[in-house]
Amino acid sequence: MNTWRIRTLTCLMVSLVMNPQFILAESSETSFQHAIESLSSDRMLADIRTLSGPTFNGRQGGTKDDLDSARWVAHEFLSAGLRLPRIRNGSLIIPLLIGKDGATSGAMATLVPTATMPSDSVLRIGKTNGLTTKQPGTDYLPIFDSPSADIQGQIVFVGYGIVDSARGIDDYAGVDVNNRIVLFLRGKPEHYPHPFSHADKVQIAQDHGAIGYLTATGPVLSPYEIRRGVTGNPSAFYGQVPLELAIPGAWISTALAQEILSESKGELPDRLHALQERLNQSPSSQAVPSNQFASLRWETVREEGLLINVIGMIPGTGPETVIVGAHRDHFGRPGGILFPGADDNASGTAVILEVARALTQVEPPPSRTILFISFSGEEHDLLGSRLYTSRPIVPLDTTKAMINIDHAGVGNGRLTVGVTGFEKDTFLEAGKTAGVHDKIDLYGFFPGGDHVPFKEAGVPTVTVVSGGVHPHFHRPTDTVETIDPEILHTVARYVLAVTWGQAYEP
Ligand SMILES: [Zn+2]
Repeated sequence: MNTWRIRTLTCLMVSLVMNPQFILAESSETSFQHAIESLSSDRMLADIRTLSGPTFNGRQGGTKDDLDSARWVAHEFLSAGLRLPRIRNGSLIIPLLIGKDGATSGAMATLVPTATMPSDSVLRIGKTNGLTTKQPGTDYLPIFDSPSADIQGQIVFVGYGIVDSARGIDDYAGVDVNNRIVLFLRGKPEHYPHPFSHADKVQIAQDHGAIGYLTATGPVLSPYEIRRGVTGNPSAFYGQVPLELAIPGAWISTALAQEILSESKGELPDRLHALQERLNQSPSSQAVPSNQFASLRWETVREEGLLINVIGMIPGTGPETVIVGAHRDHFGRPGGILFPGADDNASGTAVILEVARALTQVEPPPSRTILFISFSGEEHDLLGSRLYTSRPIVPLDTTKAMINIDHAGVGNGRLTVGVTGFEKDTFLEAGKTAGVHDKIDLYGFFPGGDHVPFKEAGVPTVTVVSGGVHPHFHRPTDTVETIDPEILHTVARYVLAVTWGQAYEP
């Protein structure tokens, strides 16, 4: 052995002895590799199959299916090796009946009104002498929190349904909608850049004396709608209209809206298309009565139900916390039609379960505590994540990151990552660590999702969504068969790396 080699070896030994971080770094690298290699798309697919199957009936927030799916997730958290923290400031603490050890924690719950629609919802459309019954799911879906309906009236088209006299727009000008049923388009034209929600439109319709409404995506899609893969199908939707202001309404297919506005069947060119193009070009009213009538009939049953978040924990060595969350709830079985919600968001739930299974095997523990949260009520105005931020189980100012996964199983194979309160580059690094950096598209704030209440509370957020079109979005066709295991695997690798960066190497 020559002197040079002896010197180098001695240096190396000294640096190993003098610098314990060197050893830690190496073992930490190995633990990370073990964790990432343990991720299984088969397990995630099996979890999605269970969550989106008939057992949980589409997991509507506040229903018995919410409780059953919460129990299932709590069991999976426990089997993964997570601890279920004692929750004292949840508005209600409910027993999840886990094992014989008397553990009753891990969940926070609140009472919410749930609206369930019976299977006999009926929408009929046609001329006075011949209304035909339309197909729920394909031709229409009642708006979820729509009140009971037993109405019939002439249909009047009112453009996008916007009235804003200060800005010179009145989509109701020139028509009388009193005791009639209005038909308005989703969204708004580009020349009107101000917010105008669905609830605003319903209130305007009611103010004008309408007894009900139909709403549809127009045949002319905006660039945003095209990018999101919006289709002409009716979608599951909570109108968010306060009960005292609500009138019955349904989301109908674009094809049905076109049929309503055609003077005779199969008329060309499409009249609705022409009306929408004129609406998109100028603010003048295109309101017009149709020669068709609609009859809406259903009974909405309103109940109070428990909405449940499930929380599992890997305790850290320091005082700070990182949250990894995904919503579990979906739309249930309205009108007898099952909404499986495989991509939305059994997929995100499966990802957090799999990341939890991988990280509970890691030694030593993270420096920041990791809370895995399975939210309910996301589809209902983010009720579950708002419940958490209003009653956090650890202070929000020591919560250093909220990582949210929503829609993780369908698309073009790329990942859309929305970042607030962080340097974006950090999340390209995480992509490199996970070996998926060439698939990451980084953005700023991503509107909509359980990260929103956290962002509003000042917690930095990262939202991970599988990129590209989600053609089954809020449709009964969002089934496990449409899930791509490779996309799931990419998302799980990335989420593991991001969580690692935030909790183990802060
Ligand atoms: Zn959704």
